[in-house]
Order: sequence, then structure tokens, then C-alpha cells
Amino acid sequence: ADSDTADEAVRSTCDDASICKRFASSKGYWTDPYLQYFVRQTGERKAPEINRGYYGRVKGVYHLLDAFLKKTQCDCQVVNLGAGLDTTFWRLKDENIMPKKYFEVDFPMIVARKIHHIKTKPPLSKPLIESHSTDSLLLEGHNLDSDKFCVISADLRDLSTLEDKLKKFHINPELPTLFMSECVLVYITPEQSSKLVRWIADTFPTSMFINYEQVNMDDRFGQIMIENLQRRQCNLAGVDLCQSLDSQKERFLSTGWESVNALDMMTVYSMLPQEDVARIERLEFLDEKELLQQLLQHYCICWAVRDKLNLGISRIGF
Ligand code: SAM
Repeated sequence: ADSDTADEAVRSTCDDASICKRFASSKGYWTDPYLQYFVRQTGERKAPEINRGYYGRVKGVYHLLDAFLKKTQCDCQVVNLGAGLDTTFWRLKDENIMPKKYFEVDFPMIVARKIHHIKTKPPLSKPLIESHSTDSLLLEGHNLDSDKFCVISADLRDLSTLEDKLKKFHINPELPTLFMSECVLVYITPEQSSKLVRWIADTFPTSMFINYEQVNMDDRFGQIMIENLQRRQCNLAGVDLCQSLDSQKERFLSTGWESVNALDMMTVYSMLPQEDVARIERLEFLDEKELLQQLLQHYCICWAVRDKLNLGISRIGF
């Protein structure tokens, strides 16, 4: 696939993520009243292990994000890299744990689609308008900027544009800032993701990075996962067959981060509140437990911290 086709295929991955999340949330794995405005259909049935996998992914990331908001008492910023059609902003608003400002970054085409949905659906636009104090709300084409929420179109491989746009929309490098990427770094090369996280470490002295992605791809199961993505002509520049939990950590340790943790999703799943895990395991019968284990062993959460302000954010974990 040429690079345009490959980027186009990568962009379509945000639909997959949202369709799977919509399906799982419609089954009761967790509540997300906003996904319906971004993806109309719940799509075809997804296997129970897929739904449990998404449950672990969503709850795992939420756990770390919410802990960061708590530690910083919401006196912080959040930057969701490759956010796609993610709905976290609206959840934080509903739960009254909004950071000072919430930023999202994605390709221009995805950003334009997201803004179109927001513009045309009052349940999405209302919280933005309500949390905005002046008449300067920017909501057009490829740009959305309000007091609390900003959507930026930029390519994560082009750091100077990313930096310019974050500055233009008033990111404050001195405020504690959480960066997150959920199934995103796998689409850029290891060099590009290293540059990205190094730039963040150099620029934001008090910050945390949460990365969720594939890991341990060097076996038969990993091979099948890669083949499935390749069949869709995705440019998997970041899939590194040797990527282990250690190499996930190394990406951050070699670029100026102070403390780094990485857990596979099997471990994360076993550390989530077990009462809720028991509840979701009753939702759908899962015959082959091994299938879920294999799936969970091939994804991980890695989180890294820099704590200049000594807020204790390096103690955040499961
Ligand atoms: N993070 C969202 C989630 O978990 O629901 C979306 C995940 S989707 C699999 C990957 C997202 O990363 C897509 O929205 C895609 O457009 C974005 N992305 C991939 N490479 C990118 C790049 N170089 N610059 C900006 N966005 C990128």
C-alpha cells in the first residue's frame, strides 16, 4: 500500500475501536451514553472475549487517568493523542472531574468528522458551550477550541506542527499534564514514537504518559493479530516483533522519563475491582477461557512519569 492508502487505513481504525466500544457498552460492560452520537450502529456481534478485552482496556486506562486527576486535584491538563472518536471528555464532565483543559489530537480528516458530530448533536455540544465563559468558542471545520476542550488536527510524526498548535491553543507546560495514546503508537515507527515521548519529557516537567497497545507479538497468536491488521492495508510501522514489556518500558527510560511501569492486560484485568469483573463475566458466557487469556497477554498498558512538582504521581498504579 502506498503511504496515502496506508494512512487512510490507519484513520479507519478509529471506527473499529468505537464500534467495538459501542457494542460492548450496549451489552452493559460499562456505560457510555455518548458513543451513540459518533457511531450510529452497534454493528455485528462481537465475541465475548473481544468485549472483555475492551472492558479491560477502557477500565485500565480510566483507572490511571482518574488517579492522575485525583492526585493533581484536576489542576492539570490532559492530551489524548490519536483520540479518534473517544468520548472521555464527556465522561469527565459528567463525573465532575474535568482537568483545566482537555486536548485531543488526530489527523485532520478524523478531527473534521469529530467536529461535525459535535456541531450537529446538542448532547455533545451542550457541555462545551456550558463550560465556556466567553463568546469566543471556535467550532468550525478542522478547529475546535473552548475553555475546557480543544481538538487539534496534527500528524504525530510532525512534532513542530504539533508543538505550534498546542501552544496556539494555550497549553501550559508548567501544569501537570497527562498524555495518553490508546492503540496509536503502533502506527508510527519506533523512532517517531521515541521522538514524540522525548519531546514530551523535555517539554513537560510534571507529566505522565499512558500508552495502551499490542505487546508480545512474536508468537503464533501475535502473527495472526498482525495479519488481520495487514489485511486491511494498515501501515504497522510500530509493530516490533521483539516488543516485550521491557522494550515498552525502555522507550520511556531512554527518553528522559523518571519512573516507568508496564503490565500486560492479563495482569491488569486481574487487578481491576473484582466485583465489577464478576458482574461483566456474567453478562455473556465465555466457553474458551484460554482465548481471553491469549488476547489479554498480547496487549499492555505502560505508564511513565516525570514529577518535578513532587506530587507523588509516580506512585500511581493498580
Ligand atoms: N484512541 C482511540 C481509541 O482508543 O478509541 C482511537 C484508536 S484508533 C485504533 C487509532 C487512532 O490514531 C486513529 O484515530 C488514527 O487516526 C490516529 N492516528 C494514527 N496515526 C496518527 C498520526 N500519525 N497522527 C495523528 N493521529 C494518528
